[in-house]
Amino acid sequence: MNFESQLPLLNLSVETIEEALKIPNWHKISPILQLIELLFYKTENWEKRDDCEEFKLLRDKLLAATSSALNSRTLPTGANSKNDNDLRKPINKIVLHHLAGDSSRYEKSSKVEIISYVNALQLLRLTAYYRGNPNANYKNELNHGDLNMNRFFEHFDSSVFVNSDDYREFELLIGIPNFIQYHYFVFSDGSVIQLSDHKELLWHSNGGNSDGVGVCLVGNFNEVQPTIVQINSTRELLTNLNNQYPNDPQMAGHKEILRPDGKPNKTTCPGETFRDWKTDILP
Ligand SMILES: [Zn+2]
Repeated sequence: MNFESQLPLLNLSVETIEEALKIPNWHKISPILQLIELLFYKTENWEKRDDCEEFKLLRDKLLAATSSALNSRTLPTGANSKNDNDLRKPINKIVLHHLAGDSSRYEKSSKVEIISYVNALQLLRLTAYYRGNPNANYKNELNHGDLNMNRFFEHFDSSVFVNSDDYREFELLIGIPNFIQYHYFVFSDGSVIQLSDHKELLWHSNGGNSDGVGVCLVGNFNEVQPTIVQINSTRELLTNLNNQYPNDPQMAGHKEILRPDGKPNKTTCPGETFRDWKTDILP
């Protein structure tokens, strides 16, 4: 896709985006996909461009519109989900993550707001990555998929891919479908929320999805460290998981997980400061 040719998209209003997201099967409609692809893939890879800030503003508009559409359930998400849980392997890894992006957002928002924001973000990211331009070469750069892509496309066509029939903690919590690709959130006040059952195969790390449990510490830890209570709660959670799985699962940061090609994931997640607090969270 030609980046420059998309500049007129910058004039889109939140209302226009909201209307677009109400179209059934919006995730299959080319202009919407192009917009999402542009705003997510390009803004994450064109950081150095002068006009990147403008695209980020539009990205925030898209996120706000998606979040509000999800919250008011006007966003069609499909009800007949297939899922990949038959590819789930015995749990062998606990993978730690953080949330990239503006950490002040996480400081001033409530837990439900944070969950809602990440939910919209992950729905759009998955849409951009998997349903975007089929010729895009960045599929090879994904840090999510360690499974058969064709299968995922098949899967995504049915739209909802996280909730199981009998485990809907997230829906119970805030009443909307869950697209979050982590099993747990650990917040800065030390509270822990489980978003999906371990039997759910989620898409958080290349090489760590099929046999991993994803644990996300809420915050951006490239410059600051998690709070003391957050570190203590994480250690408690990892201790519980360790007791639950006597096979002694590997506990590692996202960037330490090896991809199927034997190389580490290309990411700073769970943050540049991870080396300073890694030993504090291990059981
Ligand atoms: Zn991560």
